[in-house]
Amino acid sequence: MKLSAIQKFTILDYPNKVACIAFTPGCNMRCGFCHNPEFVLPEKIRELDGNFIAEETFFRFLDQRRGLLEGVVVSGGEPTIWQDLPEFFGKIKALGFLTKLDTNGNHPEMLEQLLREKLVDYVAMDVKTSLAQYPKLVGGGVKCNNIAESMELLKSSGTPYEFRTTLIKEVHNEEVLGDMKQMLAGAEKFFLQTFRPGHTLNSVFATYHPFSSEETDRIAQTFQKEVASVSIRN
Ligand code: SF4
Repeated sequence: MKLSAIQKFTILDYPNKVACIAFTPGCNMRCGFCHNPEFVLPEKIRELDGNFIAEETFFRFLDQRRGLLEGVVVSGGEPTIWQDLPEFFGKIKALGFLTKLDTNGNHPEMLEQLLREKLVDYVAMDVKTSLAQYPKLVGGGVKCNNIAESMELLKSSGTPYEFRTTLIKEVHNEEVLGDMKQMLAGAEKFFLQTFRPGHTLNSVFATYHPFSSEETDRIAQTFQKEVASVSIRN
């Protein structure tokens, strides 16, 4: 597994744990609002390939952090596109670290394997929009059945997980949010995140807007019937 980057320390990305983040290159979606197009678009990845981090380098770093860090977050891009992901998680766990996967949910077979083999201790899955709107928002690489299947896998897995949505005013209208409530029914934890305009994969999204904090509060309240815990993450 080659890594596009390592963040050596975080207290924000693994709930209640001190962790590092291993970023994998490449993704099977093309979200217009993506803030990391250089790690998503193949032509950009080719340009950066020489700077990528070898697995051995990462594990040397991790070995030195035993007793200092509790967990490792594997994020992307989209980590589940890599066939050697189970092996990678297995090596991290063998060093005694807890593991968290960040995923877009577009590869349920891989997610199922990671859950079944208990290679992940926590999963954060993006729920980007209603199923009907997914292809328009994230590009043709998505299979809506896969998103629904991954959500059901997590709801029934027994592994701690969260769903999370980056709210964008021009995307998440009443109808979309209504459909998302049905998708999220019965979930344990749901985080609403604030959209940051700026550097985006599709320049049109650079001009889109976040909701105000009052509007986000109101949206959060409307999900409280469907989801056990709804929180706002800025
Ligand atoms: S799922 Fe979307 S936001 Fe996440 S890395 Fe892929 S393109 Fe970017």
